[in-house]
Amino acid sequence: MLIKELSRRTGASVRSIRYYEAKEILNSCRLENGYRDYDDTAVERIKTIQFYLSLGLTTDNIAQIIECPTAPTADRPLCQAAYKLYTAKLNEVNKQLALLQTVQSRLQDRSREFEATANRKKSEAKTMIIDSHAHVMLPPEKQLQLMTAAKIDRTVLFTSTIHPETAATIEGLEQELNRLYSILNGTVNPLQERICAIEELVSIIAASPEKYIGFGSIPSGFSYEENIDWISNYILANNLRGIGELAPLSGQVAQLEPLFQASRETGNLPLWVHAFFPLNFEDIKELLMLAKKYSTVPLILGHLGGVHWLNTLKAVKDIPNVYLDLSATFTTMAPSFAIKLYPERTLFSSDAPYCSPLTARTIIEQIVEDRYVREQVLGGNIARLLNIG
Ligand SMILES: [Zn+2]
Repeated sequence: MLIKELSRRTGASVRSIRYYEAKEILNSCRLENGYRDYDDTAVERIKTIQFYLSLGLTTDNIAQIIECPTAPTADRPLCQAAYKLYTAKLNEVNKQLALLQTVQSRLQDRSREFEATANRKKSEAKTMIIDSHAHVMLPPEKQLQLMTAAKIDRTVLFTSTIHPETAATIEGLEQELNRLYSILNGTVNPLQERICAIEELVSIIAASPEKYIGFGSIPSGFSYEENIDWISNYILANNLRGIGELAPLSGQVAQLEPLFQASRETGNLPLWVHAFFPLNFEDIKELLMLAKKYSTVPLILGHLGGVHWLNTLKAVKDIPNVYLDLSATFTTMAPSFAIKLYPERTLFSSDAPYCSPLTARTIIEQIVEDRYVREQVLGGNIARLLNIG
């Protein structure tokens, strides 16, 4: 047969067949036209060569034993030369195996080290502690000190038009708080002061950008267009990540609808709403209706609904865009149940200066046993909501 036919019958390439001939482990005759011609034994011969090659022998090795039988028969026992080659090859393979095992165990060690470091880094990243709601405190160093004392990595910082933390006397404190109450009861709705407070917030964040994420306030009662303007001029332009603290009056929650609409049109900025006094449960329900209607807009309900915390916990069940801020609760039962029911939607916060960050963190640590849940409440949940990574 011609070389092509032999190649087809054995699977060996034409080039390999020529090479075996050059190595004198395969023979052919020449036809008159100079073509190689092979008889049927060539097929067997190539299969034998292929068998030896699969044992790792070289063509030079094969040349030494090509005439030996590949399997012993009564009249043709295995020859000594083949046995010698086999044992030499076996030794070589054993040595290589030992070497490969050493390489294998070194690679395993390295991979394990790498994975352990990566996991450590991952769990460190996971345990970033984020105070999800605190107000600008003066002087700014004081706020950073409180964060350090509570081992808080980052704080979501809100503006403050008043600074009760600077009061040295009870009268001074009363004066500051009266100002807060006049905002909460709607007798003042300061526009210029809000702008100044945002400027103050932005400058504090600029001084420690790795420590803070900002939320900006917005005056109440704005139309849709006014909300859009304010959001673009004061929130987005300052790279603030949400809107708050909103403090609607009782009976006036519906006024927030244009803001929900505006948030939806500007990238679904989270809205942080003060849901303690003066709101009652009817107001909270109205707020939740808005959250249901604008289901892409995250609503953070401040202070767990205050005295209405139990009803609030029940009412937010099927509204996944509602998050619960755990600050300013007067019983640890409230945050305990909130976390138990909504481990993915509860947010640790101090509402500093109204509570110290360390105290707020200690409460969460004492009421949550499960480490993973604790990490999510102390930072993971708000990190996911605001894309902090
Ligand atoms: Zn607050």
